[in-house]
Amino acid sequence: MRGHDPRDAVGIVHRARGALFGVAVGDALGATTEFMKPAQIRERFGVHKEITGGGWLKLAPGQVTDDTEMSLCIARAIADRGGWELSAIAERFARWFSGNPADVGATCRRGIREYLETRRLETPPNEWDAGNGAAMRMAPVALYTLGSERFLSRCAVEQARLTHNHPLSDAACVAVGMLIQRGILGSPRSGLLAAAEDLAAAHPEFLFEGYDGEATGFVADTLRTVFSAFFSTDGFEECLVRTVNRGDDADTTGAIAGAIAGARYGFAAIPRRWVLALPAGLREEISTLAAKLVRMSPLFNPPATG
Ligand code: MN
Ligand code: MN
Repeated sequence: MRGHDPRDAVGIVHRARGALFGVAVGDALGATTEFMKPAQIRERFGVHKEITGGGWLKLAPGQVTDDTEMSLCIARAIADRGGWELSAIAERFARWFSGNPADVGATCRRGIREYLETRRLETPPNEWDAGNGAAMRMAPVALYTLGSERFLSRCAVEQARLTHNHPLSDAACVAVGMLIQRGILGSPRSGLLAAAEDLAAAHPEFLFEGYDGEATGFVADTLRTVFSAFFSTDGFEECLVRTVNRGDDADTTGAIAGAIAGARYGFAAIPRRWVLALPAGLREEISTLAAKLVRMSPLFNPPATG
């Protein structure tokens, strides 16, 4: 590491922590309302805004699911190997899967099983792979590739195709990564909006203006839910509460909204009660990994000139 500090290094690390903590608190908050309909949520909670666990997985308060766990697999693989090594990420996924996690999406399950059989690092194209399971684990990729949207795009698609091989999943992963990076870099809101609008221009499935349809695991429904909540609010808590109260795939919409809003508003904007609901060991690891990943990124390690 050359130890180059970009302008506002402190703010950048702070917002990177916001992004990675955002995944975990959004996952833990949303897991409670996963697979519920908005009307059921209203009836049961009024407005769901506390990390209380429960849900269909009967979680302990503050317990996270595959969205956070797979993100951590990527973050740990990068930190461990000192860089981008796709096989190290696949191995982490495989080890995690072998531990019989409570929550695994069907496409991730199939992709990891396939990897265990063939050791291939790319699942074949599949018309059913447009789920949100690759997009939900983009935060560590965005942190590690900070400063290069080209490097981001490459890594986003590589990690995605370990389990998902579909143009909508690929495009969603890149876009989520860009929103997170622009947030961390302190871009104005219009910079984030441009990334979301570029995605919708390329794939109209993602048009999110005024979206109030279902928040399903189809990646376009997921991102339309997240974008409509993020761009119609102006704080972390408000964005997350709006997102997870839409129910359905709420842990995953929560995780992605948390990553984007955490990047944009920074760690200090995450309600303290939500951060403290997470297990202490997880808090410590997220904090360490977030700082480590951005310090490994092109932003902190620009190519030598001259
Ligand atoms: Mn989950
Ligand atoms: Mn989910």
